[in-house]
Amino acid sequence: MSNITEAPHPATASQVVGRDKDPFIGEENPFEAMMARFDHAAEILALDPGLYRVLRQPEKQVIVAVPIQRDNAEIEVFTGYRVLHNTSRGPAKGGIRFDLNVTLDEVKALAAWMTWKCAVVNIPFGGAKGGVVCDPTNLTISELERITRRYTAAIIETLGPESDIPAPDVNTNERVMAWIMDTYSMHKRHSVTAVVTGKPIEMGGSLGRREATGRGCMIVTKEALKHLGLPIRGAKVAVQGFGNVGSVAARLLQEEGLVVVAVSDVSGAIYSPTGLDIDDVVEWTREHRYVSGFPDSEAIAPDELLTLDVDVLLPAAVESTITRRNAGKIKAKVICEGANGPTTPSADKMLENHGAFVIPDILANAGGVTVSYFEWVQDRAAYFWDEHTVNERLQNIIQRSFHDVLSVARRHSVNMRIAAYMLAIERVAAVHRLRGLYA
Ligand code: NAD
Repeated sequence: MSNITEAPHPATASQVVGRDKDPFIGEENPFEAMMARFDHAAEILALDPGLYRVLRQPEKQVIVAVPIQRDNAEIEVFTGYRVLHNTSRGPAKGGIRFDLNVTLDEVKALAAWMTWKCAVVNIPFGGAKGGVVCDPTNLTISELERITRRYTAAIIETLGPESDIPAPDVNTNERVMAWIMDTYSMHKRHSVTAVVTGKPIEMGGSLGRREATGRGCMIVTKEALKHLGLPIRGAKVAVQGFGNVGSVAARLLQEEGLVVVAVSDVSGAIYSPTGLDIDDVVEWTREHRYVSGFPDSEAIAPDELLTLDVDVLLPAAVESTITRRNAGKIKAKVICEGANGPTTPSADKMLENHGAFVIPDILANAGGVTVSYFEWVQDRAAYFWDEHTVNERLQNIIQRSFHDVLSVARRHSVNMRIAAYMLAIERVAAVHRLRGLYA
C-alpha cells in the first residue's frame, strides 16, 4: 500500500553521502540548491505569491515499503519514493534511480528539475522522479527484478501513460523499464507500452533514445561555442563521468571535430594532451569496466580534470561536483551540465565572476526527456519513426530551446541558468493562470 505524506523536513547534509561536501551550508542538498535558483528566478519574474507557494510544493509524495525475499530466503524491506512535482502541463515524467544515496529531498529536487526541464524544451509533460534506496551492486538480477516489480505495484496508482511515466536514471536501464512495463500491463490486463520510456526497441522503445542526452549535450555545446565566437574544430574538452551521458557526449563531440583530452569515472581520471580516442576508451570500458588503466593516457587526480586548461568542461556524473572549493580554479570557457545539479549556487557565482558560460542542466541534458517524449508519442500512435527523423526533431527542439533561453538571458541581463528557470517558471505559471484553482 502506498501512503501519501505531508511535506517532510529537509534531509541534513550528512545524509548525502559520497558527494563532494561544500562548506556552504545546505549547498550540497540538491533540493536547497534547486530552490535557491527557483527563488532567484521567481523574484525577477515578480511571480504572484500564491503561484509561488503552489510551485514550491510537490503535488504528491509517495513513500512505500518494498519487501522482497532475497535469494538466501531472507526477507528484506527497502524504501521507495515517487514524487510528482507538477502536472499542470501534462503527465508527470521522470526517471527512477536505484542507489544508496537516494533521499526524499534528492527525489523532490530531481522531480522539480523535471518540471522545469520539460517546460524549457516546451514538451507537454510535468515533472516527477522516483527512487529505491538500495545498492544494485549487491543484488542479483532476480532480486533486482523483484524490487522493481514490487516497487511498481506499490506506486501503481500514480503510474499511467496519462498520469505518470517513468524512465531510466542512475543504475536503472532498459531491462528495468521492461519489468515496469510488464508489471503495470499485468495489472491492467493488456499491454501498455506508453507507461514507461527508455524501453528496449523491440517492445516500443525509440531509436535514438539511448544516445539522446549525450546528443543534446553535443548540440548545445556547439551552439554555445558559436555564440561565443569560439572555434568548434580543435576545441579541447574534459568530461567527468563516462556513463550513458558522458561517453556518448564525448564520442559525438569528437565526431564534430572537438578534442577530448580527459575523461573520468568512479575509478579515476585519464588524460592525453593530444586527445583520447573515445571509441577505444569505450571499448576499453566494455572489457575492463572502468576508464582507469587505458593505454596511451596519463592518470590524473579526479579533481584535476575539472581544472584543466580546456575550452569545454562537461560534468556528467552526479550532483554537487563543482563547488566553491574548485570553481575558482576552473578554466573552461563553456560548462555543459550533462549531469543534474553538478554546480552548487556559490560555485555558480564564482564561475560567472570569471566569465564562464554555463549551459544549465535543465537545458543541457534535456535531450533525453525530449526523445522520451518522442517515444511516448510513437507508442501512443503505434507508429515508429526512423532514427534520422528522431535526431532531426531532437536537434530542432534543442537548438530552438538554447536560443529561447539565450534571448531571455539577454533581455533580463541574467545568466543562462536563471534565464532557463525564468522561461520554465513562466511557462508553467501561464498554464496555472489559465486553468485556475479547482476547489
Ligand atoms: P551512469 O550511471 O550511466 O554514469 C555515471 C558515470 O559517472 C559513471 O561513469 C560513474 O562511474 C561516474 N561517476 C560517478 N560518480 C563520479 C564522481 N564522483 N566522479 C567522476 N565520475 C563519477 O549515469 P548517466 O545516465 O550517464 O547519468 C549521469 C548524470 O546525468 C546523472 O546526474 C543523471 O541524473 C543525469 N542525466 C541522465 C540522463 C540519461 O538519459 N541517462 C538524462 C538527463 C540527466
